[in-house]
Amino acid sequence: SRAKLFDENTDVKTSFKDVAGLEGAKEEVQEIVDFLKNPEKYTNLGGKIPKGALLVGPPGTGKTLLAKAVAGEAKVPFFSLSGSDFVEMFVGVGASRVRDLFKQAKEKSPAIIFIDEIDAIGRARGKNNMSGSNDERENTLNQLLTEMDGFGTNTNVIVLAATNRADVLDKALMRAGRFDRQIFVDLPDVRERKEIFEVHLRPLKKAEDLDLDFLSKQTPGFSGADIANVCNEAALIAARNGKKAVDKQDFLDAVDRIVGGLEKKNKIIT
Ligand code: ATP
Repeated sequence: SRAKLFDENTDVKTSFKDVAGLEGAKEEVQEIVDFLKNPEKYTNLGGKIPKGALLVGPPGTGKTLLAKAVAGEAKVPFFSLSGSDFVEMFVGVGASRVRDLFKQAKEKSPAIIFIDEIDAIGRARGKNNMSGSNDERENTLNQLLTEMDGFGTNTNVIVLAATNRADVLDKALMRAGRFDRQIFVDLPDVRERKEIFEVHLRPLKKAEDLDLDFLSKQTPGFSGADIANVCNEAALIAARNGKKAVDKQDFLDAVDRIVGGLEKKNKIIT
């Protein structure tokens, strides 16, 4: 059997309701939803619909979630792949995979293509070019640029890509008609953390003593993914202790555990 080249989701359930905070970013992608739903509204006036936008921000802040929500809101298929999957690829495979991806998306357009960790293929060319795998990365990047230049303005395929290292990206990617828009997705502030807690508390059985303002203040520097983790961990801790609902102490224990994990991760990096 052939390895799967990319993921295709034709029935995305994610909507903007699932994305807490990120007001500015949501406003910007709302426009992309509108392009996908009513392309004529824009092209009739002679405008060119953008081909791509780059979602830039730290890990776990909701870039993938937001891209998926765009597809869900516009009710279009979501094609996705991760740049890191290309790292150990045989010569020629990366480029043909990109070609296939665009072909499929065009056939099913309007559609969203999402490329996570685009920096893994989109690093500036001609640097540290010492291994064969790097040549393959360049082939993949060149194919991506070719595909983006190749489709016309009325193809109705919009490419969203995510990175936490916009600074290392090949400038060719950011040229007009490619990823010429950058949308910043930052770590949440205290008010946004509260909104993210609200989203991830929805499925939990909550005890009376839960205090969202308190929890939001206890979690500076946490990403949305960290908060989702805290909520799940708290539910598991409560269950392990035979509780009927998840209470404040379970959350504090979960926060401690996640902070411990984050400290370990940072130690490895430094
Ligand atoms: P990475 O850079 O690591 O790929 P990302 O920015 O793409 O991360 P996501 O994969 O979208 O982050 O987030 C992981 C999970 O964290 C989401 O599926 C969701 O459960 C939760 N999450 C992150 N941000 C938010 C948010 N703003 N609102 C609600 N949930 C969030």
